[in-house]
Amino acid sequence: MKVTRCLITAFFLAVRGADEVIALKAARIFDGKSNAPVQNGVVIVQGDKIVDAGSNLPIPSSARVIDLGDGTLCPGFMDAHTHLTSDFSGDYNQHRLKEVDLNVSEQAIIATSHALATVEAGFTTVRDLGSRFVGSHEFVDVALRNSINKGVIIGPRMLVATKGIGSTGGHFDPTSGFRDFLFGREADYTDGIADGPDEIRKAVRFEVKNGADVIKAAVSGGVLSLADEVDTPQLTPAEMAALVDESHRLRKRVAVHCHGDDAAHEAIEAGVDSIEHGSFMKPETLTLMKKKGTFLTPTLMATEWIMGKLENYPPALQAKAKAAAAARSDMFRNAVKMGVRISFGTDAAVYPHGQNAKEFKLMVDLGMKPIDALKSATANDAELLGIAQKVGTLEKGKLADVIAVPGDPAADITATERVSFVMKEGKVIRQGPPAVQKIKNTASPNFAAPAD
Ligand SMILES: [Zn+2]
Repeated sequence: MKVTRCLITAFFLAVRGADEVIALKAARIFDGKSNAPVQNGVVIVQGDKIVDAGSNLPIPSSARVIDLGDGTLCPGFMDAHTHLTSDFSGDYNQHRLKEVDLNVSEQAIIATSHALATVEAGFTTVRDLGSRFVGSHEFVDVALRNSINKGVIIGPRMLVATKGIGSTGGHFDPTSGFRDFLFGREADYTDGIADGPDEIRKAVRFEVKNGADVIKAAVSGGVLSLADEVDTPQLTPAEMAALVDESHRLRKRVAVHCHGDDAAHEAIEAGVDSIEHGSFMKPETLTLMKKKGTFLTPTLMATEWIMGKLENYPPALQAKAKAAAAARSDMFRNAVKMGVRISFGTDAAVYPHGQNAKEFKLMVDLGMKPIDALKSATANDAELLGIAQKVGTLEKGKLADVIAVPGDPAADITATERVSFVMKEGKVIRQGPPAVQKIKNTASPNFAAPAD
């Protein structure tokens, strides 16, 4: 009898919890799509959804009020380019050693702290563009996404790319730079390495079979890889056409890592959904992007971090980083001026997780209006990720991903780096100091905790 009563009480508490109305209040609100924040922001939340959002809304008498004072309510930020399962922000060679030294289970456990740091920084959604551990077939990004979705761990909503797809010896080949056959075989489609249109299709199918939400491919060389030049094309037009066709048939979007101009031009022609990095893109290529509606994810944080810590990288990589950094600022300024669609993405893992919001100031310093930078991380990313019907703006019926920053981010974009409140799907994840700081303070010296 007692047990029954307890169960009934628990049931009603659960029902009441689901029905509880929360009213979030702050001095301002930015809804993710308007051209300026408005005063006296209110977001009414019930269960996991937004019931209403706007300026000076009446607050239901039954609502629990959370007053966020002189801040701005914003949609949860999104980062369209992360790698939550890695952290290669320190010494490059030490990281390579660690990758073959630590077992993948341990790396997966460390990744849970990256997920926590990211959501506590106000990023309630990420598109995670590649997760690989040399010599392993584990899908750590899929496991992380699923564990977050099931409530086992706390982190952002993740759309994952699994391994990413690239050519033999290209930017994504996990065996590049190691002695030949050190791992007993050449990398193949099960590692995301594929040559020729048919193998590319097989790799896409293999990744979707294993849980990919989005397809990522490397179509040009990269900075942090040892056996390639940064701007050479690494897939042929026929391979790119197969990549896009197969992915779109399976209703998956395609994001391509690309620094070089020729490869970018070919990839845009092939119909990719976003160009990641795009460092060397010329104005003619940006014109084509604008015409086709292709998104640019500039990842300014990645080059910024590497250029600030050049001594951490081998000389060949330093030279590639310098070349990309020298080109990317003009490319980004041109893209902004020409009205290319810009998605917010940072390449988190190149720098320590949780510092994603520093990208905003870099964008604004290179000519983007603060309000447009804010839109890139909200409405634009939601559109690129194909989830705009659920998140990205503060509107009736959307999932209640709501954050608060102090002051007015349209007046001081660095306010985005001081997120004070995070709600994801109606649940308060953070109000006050982040929990990840507590983890960091008690961590052992070789624990790859986020640092700032
Ligand atoms: Zn990346």
